[in-house]
Amino acid sequence: MILNSLSKFFWRRISFLFTFSALCMLIVSVTYFAGERITSAGTDAGKDTAATPKDEITVIIDAGHGGRDGGASTEDGVLEKHLNLAVAKKVQALLSCADVNVVMTRESDIMLADEDSSHKKRDDLNARLHMADAYENCIFVSIHMNKFPVAKYSGLQVYYSKNHAGSALLADTIQEKTAAFLQTGNSRITKAADDSIYILHNIKVPAVLVECGFLSNPEEAALLQTESYQNKLAAVICASVLEYLESAE
Ligand SMILES: [Zn+2]
Repeated sequence: MILNSLSKFFWRRISFLFTFSALCMLIVSVTYFAGERITSAGTDAGKDTAATPKDEITVIIDAGHGGRDGGASTEDGVLEKHLNLAVAKKVQALLSCADVNVVMTRESDIMLADEDSSHKKRDDLNARLHMADAYENCIFVSIHMNKFPVAKYSGLQVYYSKNHAGSALLADTIQEKTAAFLQTGNSRITKAADDSIYILHNIKVPAVLVECGFLSNPEEAALLQTESYQNKLAAVICASVLEYLESAE
């Protein structure tokens, strides 16, 4: 199948080159080889949705925060919500090129809650969580940026939901590809989310939250604001999702 050969093609290339330029090739490959639709052997009986055929996986890309919820910020005031959306849109573009059905929780700077709600943050998180209910067969990928009181810490880290076995597999795939191709010094391991990560704690489908890097680390914060690094992040996430979807077939 075309995805098999696609996957072998670009990972063989990346293994051979071991450079960031290979990641650029990956972006080109994903873009160029838009082809066969990714399907899954999902068997759960459930509600039909008008949006997608029954057996097609939908990838929900969640750009964390938005609107009055800016999330974390860099030392000079760049808000996490903008960086999350920038990376999420790049992941959306790459996956769409590979003919994957993608849904975004937000595509602009908004909070998913009514202005007059007295529980805006909780409403916002529930709205994102409940988007997964609309699709019989979906996975959920949330994009965030990290922050810590000590500036020296850096590196991408993936959290996963304990409610579905697929979550850890997808998280490990993203973490491993990051260490292999994006941050060779990154020895972080994936972590199961506890109830402090509301969406992952409550969602039922395969779900991960990618903390792309630390806004509290000046060097990494600067990198995270560049288009080229955002492209590399998106390429790693996209390739990992494609590999996960293929393994789930
Ligand atoms: Zn966040």
